[in-house]
Amino acid sequence: MPDIAFVLGISKQTERGCIPRMTGKLEPRQCQVGNLKNSYENIVIGSGFGGGMVAYALSKAGQETLVVDRGVWVRRDETCWDEKALHLDTPPLYQGKIPFNVDQKRGGLMATYPYETVGGMSTFYGGVSLRLRESDFKGEVHLDSLDSNSPVSKTAWPFHYQALAPYYDEAENILGVAGALGEDITEPARGAYPQGSFNKLSPPSQRVWDAARKMGLHPCRLPMAINLDGAHGQGKCVLCNTCDYFICKVCAKNDLSLAVLPSAMKNGAEILDQHGAVKIEIKNGAAQGVVVLNLNTGMRRTIKTKRVILACGAITTPQMLLVSGVDQLSPAGKLIGRCLMRHINGVMAGAFTYRTNVPGTLQKMIGIPDFYHGDPLKKSAIKGPWGLLQEIGPFGKGLIMKRAPFGFKHFGAFFRDRLTNLLCIAADGPQYNNRVYVQPDRVDQFGVPLAQVYHRYHPRDYQVLRLLCGKAREILREVGAFYVHYVPIETFSHAFGTCRMGNDPASSVTDPLGQVWGVKNLVITDASLLPYTGSVNPSLTIAANALRIGQHLIGE
Ligand SMILES: Cc1cc2nc3c(=O)[nH]c(=O)nc-3n(C[C@H](O)[C@H](O)[C@H](O)COP(=O)(O)OP(=O)(O)OC[C@H]3O[C@@H](n4cnc5c(N)ncnc54)[C@H](O)[C@@H]3O)c2cc1C
Ligand code: SF4
Repeated sequence: MPDIAFVLGISKQTERGCIPRMTGKLEPRQCQVGNLKNSYENIVIGSGFGGGMVAYALSKAGQETLVVDRGVWVRRDETCWDEKALHLDTPPLYQGKIPFNVDQKRGGLMATYPYETVGGMSTFYGGVSLRLRESDFKGEVHLDSLDSNSPVSKTAWPFHYQALAPYYDEAENILGVAGALGEDITEPARGAYPQGSFNKLSPPSQRVWDAARKMGLHPCRLPMAINLDGAHGQGKCVLCNTCDYFICKVCAKNDLSLAVLPSAMKNGAEILDQHGAVKIEIKNGAAQGVVVLNLNTGMRRTIKTKRVILACGAITTPQMLLVSGVDQLSPAGKLIGRCLMRHINGVMAGAFTYRTNVPGTLQKMIGIPDFYHGDPLKKSAIKGPWGLLQEIGPFGKGLIMKRAPFGFKHFGAFFRDRLTNLLCIAADGPQYNNRVYVQPDRVDQFGVPLAQVYHRYHPRDYQVLRLLCGKAREILREVGAFYVHYVPIETFSHAFGTCRMGNDPASSVTDPLGQVWGVKNLVITDASLLPYTGSVNPSLTIAANALRIGQHLIGE
């Protein structure tokens, strides 16, 4: 029997969230904790791309699965597109209770509170669903040499694109990805997309497209996990301009809480929201249970299991391993949390004399992949991969005032409706010192050691970003921008690589199937596994890899 405080904590949360049914109708969140068992075949920690997809695969095969997540089910109401409720209020609506501390530049540690929702970051993500390029799986020689003294500076995956291709297909089908085959000059070998892409570009996207073509570049429509035709998801996309950083009010962005977890639940998976895993119980070299904490009441409870699947994201998964003592048990212990990568991203904001941001104008339709593998003219001294340019819609005035650097705040807010932005995503390389670690004396309100993050970019990362931003500036000038300003992105939204998979415990934390070296029944499926992601937004790769591992676990 669960303890009474445990039940009370859950009944509080039922007032907040709701689960969209496959019919698109919203149902109040159903309390499941009354039926919570003492033991499950699988416990998945985290319900984002890594956790949600593996839970989907396991439950579909009839395996008993409990998913534990710190977050709440998001509401589908006016708050979804409300900048104030989501980002400006103190605290923002979905801000989690447990921070991680970040040291990313001079000035020391900064507490960062991630948004925590069932579905992980997918509820706020932009929906861009790209596959890695074939060469990304081989790693990149110029990135390998970034930190050549380190035994873990290699970027190659332990398998090739072909091994992941069928799971990319499956992930795209589950997420109903809309794309245009053959437009992207760097696209790997693949079949048709499940859904056709945008029929017509919005006026600002069309202008960027035309300017890029005039410059001899090859713009392409971005593959997106959104329901454009009304038949690939719950609600139909209304092409609003709040996709990135907002929740889709009309249920058209196929995040995990809409497109994946309801199906897993239909197949019997249980979701325990607003509960944090605080420790994995390990005995005789095997994971045996998970200590979970009710974040509303502070009550703890241990749930037994045959298998623990960690999918807390690239910052929290290594922290969970470290607080559970896995570093002492695994031959790969010293690598846990190392080689944190996050891409090096920035936005080039172009200001125009005319209005670009009219209501109902989506400015996230196209990408420009010409610089993905580096300088197309092969003249630059900076060899190796550069990155990808993508449109990204302008944020609201409040967010610009809150988050933009001092020199852009007032200008950006004033010109907000006259901006067109290009997001520059540049490839970064692994560095041994960039890491997630814990310190026994830095604990959260529940006494659990917090994740500490140390990250510095390599000079090459900055050089590449500068080159890419220069190209974005040229394009925006060609479109007609009278002024272009650089706005850095300093979040860890694309973090990966902290528990990389590989063939050897000397240079990886797990085997190629996410099994942690040296601890039986302990598997990872999230972004922390990826040794390298080029400059591709990572969600589809995390999803495909989790499905691949799920398939293997079913057959075990
Ligand atoms: C604003 C934004 C836009 C983005 N846009 C794109 C895009 O367009 N395309 C793209 O490919 N990528 C995008 N990304 C990145 C993408 O969303 C992430 O790479 C991806 O969601 C990571 O998946 P994950 O499963 O590894 O981790 P997460 O999504 O972080 O999921 C981890 C889950 O674990 C839970 N959790 C953590 N610790 C615990 C614990 N101790 N106990 C229980 N639960 C725990 C968290 O609450 C969370 O739900 C975007 C990210 C952001 C923030
Ligand atoms: S652009 Fe479409 S999918 Fe994205 S938030 Fe708006 S309606 Fe939803």
